[in-house]
Amino acid sequence: MSFVIRCLDCGHEAPYHPLIINCPQCKSQWRQAIYDYTKAAPILRQELPKRPFDLWRYREVLPVRNPNPGLYLGEGGTPLIRAVNMGMMLGCPGIYIKDERQGPTASFKDRQAALTIAALKEAGITEMVAASTGNVAIAYSAYAARAGIKLWAFVTSLVPAVKMREIALYGSQVVKVTGSYDQVKQIAAEFAHKRGLYHDMGTRTITSVEGMKTIAYEVAEQLTEQLGPPPNTPPGELRWRVPDWYIQSVSGGLGPVGVAKGYREMMAMGLTDRLPGIIAVQSEGCAPMVHAWKDDLEEAIPVTNPKTHIETLATGTPGRSYTLLRKEMKEHGGLFESVTDDEAFRAMHVLAKMEGISAEPAAAVAFAGLFKLIRAGVIKPTDTVVVNCTGHTMPAEPLVLGSGWARNVVLPQAETSAVKTITEEEGLLAALSRVAPDRFPRVAIIDDTPDARRLVRRILQSQGDFTIFEAADGREGLDLVNREHPDLIILDLMMPEMDGFSVLDALKANPDTAEIPVIVSTAKELTLEEKARLQGQIQALMQKGDFMSDEFLEEVKALLR
Ligand SMILES: *Cc1c(COP(=O)(O)O)cnc(C)c1O
Ligand SMILES: [Zn+2]
Repeated sequence: MSFVIRCLDCGHEAPYHPLIINCPQCKSQWRQAIYDYTKAAPILRQELPKRPFDLWRYREVLPVRNPNPGLYLGEGGTPLIRAVNMGMMLGCPGIYIKDERQGPTASFKDRQAALTIAALKEAGITEMVAASTGNVAIAYSAYAARAGIKLWAFVTSLVPAVKMREIALYGSQVVKVTGSYDQVKQIAAEFAHKRGLYHDMGTRTITSVEGMKTIAYEVAEQLTEQLGPPPNTPPGELRWRVPDWYIQSVSGGLGPVGVAKGYREMMAMGLTDRLPGIIAVQSEGCAPMVHAWKDDLEEAIPVTNPKTHIETLATGTPGRSYTLLRKEMKEHGGLFESVTDDEAFRAMHVLAKMEGISAEPAAAVAFAGLFKLIRAGVIKPTDTVVVNCTGHTMPAEPLVLGSGWARNVVLPQAETSAVKTITEEEGLLAALSRVAPDRFPRVAIIDDTPDARRLVRRILQSQGDFTIFEAADGREGLDLVNREHPDLIILDLMMPEMDGFSVLDALKANPDTAEIPVIVSTAKELTLEEKARLQGQIQALMQKGDFMSDEFLEEVKALLR
């Protein structure tokens, strides 16, 4: 089955070759791979169930037909993970995380690199150039190593040193440039041009866009597996589910351009019946697309001096990628949004502490955008949302963690390791008691929903030391409070038999428990009368599904002081 490269400007169609980067007719570099979708659709329907879950299962709509076993690193096929705790916290249960950290080099750039290097290898190319804020060069380096291709990796001097060393470890030549990422791209292009070398051009590279689009296909299949086919699917038809939103942090915009193309192709093949709203989130210190979007401009005004610690997202000149994305978003309700570095670091903590997912700051930008848009009411509680967790190449940087994240134990030096004296044992115990005091603040959680108890427990245990007690109904809760005398009670209102109001009444009637502070957490909108009943009886009211873990913790800590 064949495909053509169609020019976005004049429509001219030409065969694919990685070294031909201009339209032969009008010289435009903006072109797209077009497949025979009528032929591809029935093959995909029939063959997909038999194929492994990786990027190559969509080979009928890829510019490279088959995986080269010599290059294969297990690209694509990353899991789609339901964000249960975060969903509960934000009151939006349909949040799914496309975990691109689980690619071979721990970022979604693997898809771009796998496909591009496969194409270069097929064409007999042995040397290439890429400008990178880190992850592109890491991904290309890994595949280039397997393919026997030399990579010149141009990076800005701001790229974290660990990332640079990883690029070097793979055997690529790191060229460290002091300047902005946009300047680095220019220099890399110049270098490639002078030496006649292939060079990655982001959104203008056919294989890069095609690699990214496989995210859309995978998400469609995975959502369908988890949620079933969309309602109104004709019986016997294969129809995939489309999320209401696809959210990604964005630098040059390659990811969303590819994902949008993927969804358009699935529509063309009758595999889906609609398109998701695409949300591109930028870092506020480098958000040319967001500014242009909010000012309703067709072209983005370059940011020449990015002010963000999140180097991965420092593309100041998005060029035509913005214009292409803007068109997509206007057509099916997507948008651009920005978040601050601090919001991104905060989201990183939430993601790690609530979902067990350690992402790099650039990936966390998408989650910060998610939080912001849920709060703004743009994303609705019933929406299905897929967030691309784009990467995890780095251990947490000091900037993100702040101080006081570890406790040190210094053990007394043993004279001879064979004999343990009493004093050494004492020294060990003393050291350990400095690690944590013997008594922690005691918190009782009274809630009939196990998930809600787990959420509160998780928030407390992930960011402090507490002794936590749980009770599953009002009666049990009262017994617990009388027995354990907690320092703080977190109380649900809606519980069968004995509800939170009755628990409060009983607590206040007993001089032993009347003074214990109470935080009420409730899923229900309270009436004025109910609010009046709580007045003076409780210390704080938290609306379930509408608080962030750190806000809750602040409240708890303030009451325990
Ligand atoms: C490259 C990258 C981005 C930005 O992606 P684009 O689609 O190129 O804008 C976001 N997060 C991570 C981790 C990245 O490596
Ligand atoms: Zn053309």
